[in-house]
Amino acid sequence: MSEQLKEIELKGIGVSRGVAVGPVFLLTNEEDRLVEREIGEEDIPREIARFEEALISTRYQIHEIQQKVGEAIGQKSASIFDAHLLVVDDRAFVEEVIRGLSAQRKNVEAVLSSVANRYAKALEDLKDDYLRERAADIRDVTRRILRNLSGRSSQLLSQLEHPCVVIANDLAPSDTASLNRTKVIGFATDLGSPTSHTAIMARALEIPAVVGLHDVSVRVSPGDVVLIDGNKGLIIIHPTRERLERYGKIAEARQMIQSGLSALKNEQAVTRDGYNVLLSANIELPSDVEAVVGNGAYGVGLFRSEYLYLAQDGMPSEEEQFKAYDEVAQRLAPAPVIIRTLDLGGDKFLSHLKTPQELNPFMGWRAIRFCLAQPDIFKTQLRAILRASRHGNVKIMYPMISNVDEVLQANTFLEQAKHELRTKGISFNEDLEVGVMVEVPSAALTANLIAPHVNFFSLGTNDLVQYTLAVDRVNERIAYLYEPTHPAIMRLIKHTIDVGHEHDVWTGICGEMAGNPLMAPLLVGLGVDELSVSPTMVPLVKDAIRSIRYSQAEDLARAALASECAKDVLELCRKLTEEVAPEILELVE
Ligand code: PEP
Ligand code: MG
Repeated sequence: MSEQLKEIELKGIGVSRGVAVGPVFLLTNEEDRLVEREIGEEDIPREIARFEEALISTRYQIHEIQQKVGEAIGQKSASIFDAHLLVVDDRAFVEEVIRGLSAQRKNVEAVLSSVANRYAKALEDLKDDYLRERAADIRDVTRRILRNLSGRSSQLLSQLEHPCVVIANDLAPSDTASLNRTKVIGFATDLGSPTSHTAIMARALEIPAVVGLHDVSVRVSPGDVVLIDGNKGLIIIHPTRERLERYGKIAEARQMIQSGLSALKNEQAVTRDGYNVLLSANIELPSDVEAVVGNGAYGVGLFRSEYLYLAQDGMPSEEEQFKAYDEVAQRLAPAPVIIRTLDLGGDKFLSHLKTPQELNPFMGWRAIRFCLAQPDIFKTQLRAILRASRHGNVKIMYPMISNVDEVLQANTFLEQAKHELRTKGISFNEDLEVGVMVEVPSAALTANLIAPHVNFFSLGTNDLVQYTLAVDRVNERIAYLYEPTHPAIMRLIKHTIDVGHEHDVWTGICGEMAGNPLMAPLLVGLGVDELSVSPTMVPLVKDAIRSIRYSQAEDLARAALASECAKDVLELCRKLTEEVAPEILELVE
């Protein structure tokens, strides 16, 4: 019998429910923890090609940054990047790396690091201030080249051979979009928070996940057995037999509750006194439709269309997009399907677009801002969505609207796309509804100005919380400040719903808080018309709604609006759940 290694328990943030046990697959793609690999003679040309490619991307990115900085704060400031370009174009430096491949017989990341370190150290030791500063340039550019070399994590994840728990410092949404679902039985990362897109993706894939563990990726070794508990936010390294047995019993009890909930599949999300809420689901890819139907949701309240772009190397054509949207619309008709136009940026990037790196990507060139600046990309998508509207159930939604002008501009492009289809004799639904995500505080506060131009609002609380409370949604250090029940959020939600109703604009919520069964009754009490949640959360949210009377939801909302802090509101939600649906607490706590 093998010796029992010491059990280690680490606490993080559980972001996707469920428990999994398996060997660790360690994903290390950070430049500060370089993976050093021996290479053979035959591998050298491939490593050189990777290096050259990364240099081209790096040069391109520096040029872009330089141009942007030049436009924003003047050419003088932009000229500091000349020094960065000099590093990329320094043939002596580049050739030393290439020679190092043959001499050291190591992968290009390892060789580049050692050469760059040597150069930087030599400069740091000099007395001349100007030359010493060049050392920082070398380190900065090297980091950028390494990052460009490391676009390989998605590849590794899609090639896994055995079921395993993936552990990484961080995972990009594009990594999660490309993983082999049958092989990844759990995630754990050092960084991350509940509303990062990686966490949202894990929930959609029904993969137990824990994030914000700080240093899990350095505490495990490949092949270590770990138990991951997505409910409690725990990861247990080398779990003991007793621990595994205890978990086995809990799993059995949860299974019983879960099967009870699946009986609600064909029931409506209606309160005990007959108040109906539209309960739909959020999806990332057309294949998620099975989970929408299987979990008993009515339609799709948010189709994050950017995953079609993230899941492949180039831009999807109009035809490819049309097929994807059409498939979903046809499968779910007559239930509504809300397709959100491309929401790139923030924590979702396309490497082939080579967009410049930004200091504050969530507040940068993101979503509708990107689309309005790229009419070809935007209109291709609008035409594809319009064509799929032939089934009568498709609606369009613009992300990250922050003022009326953006809505007007987007609508103008939509009219142009319609005109293009009409001239080609292609039919679409002339009455297609158009809506906006209310996820920037300025949109919530000016909802009365936006309302006349749209048919519906969908509150994107994931972003609304981060922008209102100034809390980066993917930063685990400040995750404790990320509070959807904060009084400011309560007020913004209430205001948006009320203004929407005054203007005959129906209002839903598609942020993750809608899928929290403790908070769903609160949102119903605030007057929301629709909740769109991760498919896996549909049965729990339905149970929560079916367990309350509408008056209880209204009382809860009233008390929440009168509360002083987020924790008090959460406690009120918890109390009501304990009273009316204690089985929910068994599952989520
Ligand atoms: C949101 O911000 O609440 C939302 C649903 O959009 P995303 O999570 O994709 O940013
Ligand atoms: Mg958002």
